[in-house]
Amino acid sequence: MNSLHVKKGDTVEVLSGKDRGVRGEVRRVYPQTGRVTVEGVAMVKKHQRAQGPNNPGGIIDREGTVDASTVMLVCPKCSEKTRVGHVVENGKKVRVCKKCGAHF
Ligand SMILES: [Zn+2]
Repeated sequence: MNSLHVKKGDTVEVLSGKDRGVRGEVRRVYPQTGRVTVEGVAMVKKHQRAQGPNNPGGIIDREGTVDASTVMLVCPKCSEKTRVGHVVENGKKVRVCKKCGAHF
């Protein structure tokens, strides 16, 4: 089973490391490696080679990946970081906030 507890577009909070406490939106998930990219988290500087007049290269900031186990979902309703449960609603699997009970 390769599914992660977060998906693209979720807001998450970082639980450990230098970005601890930072919240951001999940940009990308990598189910194979269990890693995610989160807006503004684990920023790394990449040296980019010049590629023509419109792309002079230089140093750009990019988000690096973090292990999905180090982030926790933030509930869109109560804004608390929370574990989620799952229920089936109208034939669709939805997530349930364990803190406020919101379905999302
Ligand atoms: Zn909630």
